[in-house]
Order: sequence, then C-alpha cells, then structure tokens
Amino acid sequence: METDKLTLQTILQRGDAAYERRHALPEQMRRAVWAIRACRTALLGGHVQTCPEGHLERVWYNSCRHRMCPPCAWGQGERWLAKQKARLLACEHDHVIFTMPHELNDLWLSNVAVMMPLLFASVHDTLVTLLGDPKYLGAKPGIIATLHTWPQTLLLPPHVHCLVTGGGLSAAGQWVAVRHGFLLPMRVVMALFRGTLLAAIRQGLHQGQLTLPPGKSRPQVENLLNKLGRQRWHVHIRERDPCGPGGLSYLARYLRGGPLSNRRLLACDGQQVVFGYAERANANEGPTRHQTMRRPLEQCLGRWLLHVPPRHAGLGRCWGLYAHTQGEALAQCRQQMGQGPEEALAPRDRPHEGEAWEEAPWARCPVCGQRLVCRALIPRAGAPPPAATGWEQVACARARA
Ligand SMILES: [Zn+2]
Ligand SMILES: [Zn+2]
Repeated sequence: METDKLTLQTILQRGDAAYERRHALPEQMRRAVWAIRACRTALLGGHVQTCPEGHLERVWYNSCRHRMCPPCAWGQGERWLAKQKARLLACEHDHVIFTMPHELNDLWLSNVAVMMPLLFASVHDTLVTLLGDPKYLGAKPGIIATLHTWPQTLLLPPHVHCLVTGGGLSAAGQWVAVRHGFLLPMRVVMALFRGTLLAAIRQGLHQGQLTLPPGKSRPQVENLLNKLGRQRWHVHIRERDPCGPGGLSYLARYLRGGPLSNRRLLACDGQQVVFGYAERANANEGPTRHQTMRRPLEQCLGRWLLHVPPRHAGLGRCWGLYAHTQGEALAQCRQQMGQGPEEALAPRDRPHEGEAWEEAPWARCPVCGQRLVCRALIPRAGAPPPAATGWEQVACARARA
C-alpha cells in the first residue's frame, strides 16, 4: 500500500467518482467533495508570490476553506479556539457530554437539518433550566457547546460537548459559585434531557417537520420513542478541568476538519483504507490505546460523507453568559473576578495584488527574510503565469549563483 503523503484529498480523488456513480449524494456532500478535491489546485486560482529582492518566486493556489477539509479547517478551528479562550471566565468549568441514543441514528440521518437544532435546544433547555433553579444554582451560567457526530471509528452517535461555568450571575447581578464544587446531579440532568428531546421529536413528527426513516412506519417510530423514554441515556460529566482552556481545546478539535484528519490516514491502495484511531478502555475516561482499522474505500467514504453537516449549520453554540448578546453580563462577571476586559483579536485579511502577505509566518523569503509580495493573481482554473516555478517549489537559484 502507498503511504507517501496520503491525504483526504488523495482518497477522495481515488474513490469519489465510483462512489458518486452508485449513490445519489445530497448537495452539501457533493459540495464538500468538490471543494476538498479542488483545494490548493489551479481549479481555485491563486497568486504568485515573489521576494522583493528577487530571490524567490512561487505559486500559491487558493484553499477551499471548507470546514470538512483538514488543512483548511485547522486554522479555522484554531481561530475559533483563540476567540473563545479570550472570552472564558476565570472560574472552573465542567465538561458535560450529552449523547443521543444510537437507536435514533436513522431518524437523525433522514432529518439532520431539523434534528440538529432540536438536539442543541434540548441540551440548552436542560442546562439553563436546572442551573437557573434556586434548588441548584439559581443563576445564569455561561455555556459553550459543540456538536460532534463522530467517534474515532466514523460510526455515528451524535453528541454535544458542553463547557459549563462552575457558577453564574444571579438576578441581583452577583457571581455565585456552584455549591461544594458540584454542578448538577447527573440523574436529574439525564431525565430532563431525555424528556425534552423526546418531546421535541414527538412534536416534530406531529407537525410533519420530521421525515420517517426509510422502511419505518409512524407507529414503529413512536414505539421506539416510548421505549427510549424508559431507558437510561448517556449523559456524562467529565472530571473537572481546573481551567477551562483544556476542555475548550477538546471542543474545538472536532469542530472543523471532519472525522478524518490527514494525520490519521495511514495507507490506501485504491480498494482499502487504513486509518489510526485512539480507543479508551472506558467510553469517556481512562488512558487511550492507539489502534488501526482497515476498511473498504467505498465504505470509508460513505461513512465520512455521513458527517458532512448541512450548509450554514453551525456546529458550535454560545449560551447564557457566553451568548454574544450578553456582553454586558459577561463584562460584569469579569469585573467581579478581577479579569480585565476581553481582548479583541486582530482582524484577518487576505492580501491584494502588490500587498505583502501579512498572515502566514512562513511567507517570508528564506534567503533575505523579507515578506513575500503578491506579483500577479491567477484566475480560477487559470494556469500559472510562465515565469513562476511550481507549487511550493522554492527556487533560490539566483541567490546561490
Ligand atoms: Zn481545503
Ligand atoms: Zn529574498
């Protein structure tokens, strides 16, 4: 098997045409595949970078910036992380995980765009209702939540990871910490989440917003919902992270880039794909063991495609004190905790023709260290201008001569 520089792009280029011939793909999946296949190729156009002293000239093709594309998504995930880190309150945070029962996977897949907001809303209502109850905290907490639809092996149980402040702002405008460092009783959280999500799904079915999964009748789905109402669901509070940023990095890790990072791809021979994954002895805690899995290319692609979210569907949410409309309340909490005001992140921009490429630290001439400048723009699907050398090829011949 070939292992040299294996990327998701290579795998899509090899397997996607055959896959598409056999399966009709929804629009968001076709878009994701097209974008990743075209990423950093002449199809998307680009520009020619040169050193002002003439030491180097190279072609830089545009990236697709699709959130399922591993190299593009890395920067987006980092930026989201930096933005949220700057807003975190200097208190302890709990990491709570709400998992939808796998029996609902079929219903999820037939209705991703409807089920996703239902799941988020159920998690939100559960946490905000219980923490707002004077029996527990009686205050407004700050919550950052992200949806993960994949574990390491590409199978699908959607779950929401939440970072919850260990306290909140009371109606009187005072910060109150949770009692004895204990967020909420798990049993109560599980029961309310289960009831809220099931009620939302029943209402969705009743109002005709949800489509029945193929081969399932309405009574079958209703029976399943009744059965799930009597089962124990997986809601889990992780051991407390004394400072939020650790948990936040975990939330961000799955937010962008899709379920298969290039780093995890080990081999592909056109028929089979081998990828690595980490397994925990216990579902959510304990040390991880690194394993490998071999799957037919077509199955691997099919599973990967299941995780392409609907267009414009946000996979992250900020609620309560962290909601973007609550700047004043958040500033009040920061003040009470002795934190300064939030620091704004520098705006990110793309260079125009003739301007220096400010953003990327690697965009400097390896000979004189000056910033590279953009000499010419390459139109989409355009060929590079004749003077340019190939993609990422650093020509220092003149400097060496
Ligand atoms: Zn890309
Ligand atoms: Zn130079």
